[in-house]
Amino acid sequence: MIINLKTNVTEAKAQELAEKAKAFCIYDGSCYVLINSSSVKELPGGLDADTDEFFVFENDLQLGSRKYQDETRTIQFGNTTLGGSTNHTVVIGGPCSVESEEQIRSSATLMKELGISTLRAGAYKPRTSPYSFQGLGLEGLKLLAKMREEFGLNIITEVRDATQVDDIIEYADIIQIGAKSMYDHGILKKCGKARKPVLLKRGFGTTLQEFVQASEFILSGGNDQVMLCERGIRTFETKTRFTLDLCGVAYLKEHTNFPLILDPSHAMGYAYGVPDLSRACVAMGVDGLLVEVHPDPSVAKSDASQQLNHEQFSDLLGTLRPIAEAVGRKII
Ligand code: PEP
Ligand code: MN
Repeated sequence: MIINLKTNVTEAKAQELAEKAKAFCIYDGSCYVLINSSSVKELPGGLDADTDEFFVFENDLQLGSRKYQDETRTIQFGNTTLGGSTNHTVVIGGPCSVESEEQIRSSATLMKELGISTLRAGAYKPRTSPYSFQGLGLEGLKLLAKMREEFGLNIITEVRDATQVDDIIEYADIIQIGAKSMYDHGILKKCGKARKPVLLKRGFGTTLQEFVQASEFILSGGNDQVMLCERGIRTFETKTRFTLDLCGVAYLKEHTNFPLILDPSHAMGYAYGVPDLSRACVAMGVDGLLVEVHPDPSVAKSDASQQLNHEQFSDLLGTLRPIAEAVGRKII
């Protein structure tokens, strides 16, 4: 249940009521809001006098549901706005990992030349083998911050454990929670307390219900700046790395108020499929597209097979603009 308290209810009173109702308490800019389990169907005793409105749900997709808030949430970072009443489809590009200053400067230069506002690269890499490149860590974050400074780009980078959240907040504009961390409640709760946009990726073995419930950990902590990213789920198919769940995207679009960012690179796993899939994603009228692009994919230290080279990326971008326009959107 979600309970919107009257606007004259003070913070102290709201906290007291939250304790009584065993609920989370957040402030949404106009009033205090209490959130407890969707199994609660009737207003808890003693709340009548202070309640403005309450909402009953079938399951724990609550703050993120269109039933509670119909308009897609607005996300703001740097000079970029997405979701809400905008018709923006934000293209986010960059290499899988920050590998060196020369490499990331080459990526930043490309983004700037193409008019792309947001650069993405990993400094902390969640690799499936301990023997693979693990990322440059803090040094990588500092290189990203340097690119932000030099090129005026927004930076998005992944957090791999909760202890890194503060550094990422300092050096980046958007915190990415990767597929392998979607269930990491330490990270989710810490991001709930942050006041930075969060891009939450779907775990590759998770249902849509589990995915949206993970996002509720962030929202119920008081951070309303959450975007969801579909990046492919694991199916019986082995010819492609994962299966991009566009049906799931349609579900999320219909039932949730999150801006949706699609990542065809990690789904496909091979560069050859990424341009076609990107066009399909944009044709769905989504809020963003995340594509991995590397100055020389053949020597990339992670995800080499799926990254586009600069020429492929810039060709792709040219084809996305008319598709976006055809579905009433604008690539930014
Ligand atoms: C990434 O974005 O580089 C990444 C590791 O993706 P995912 O978490 O979707 O596997
Ligand atoms: Mn990657």
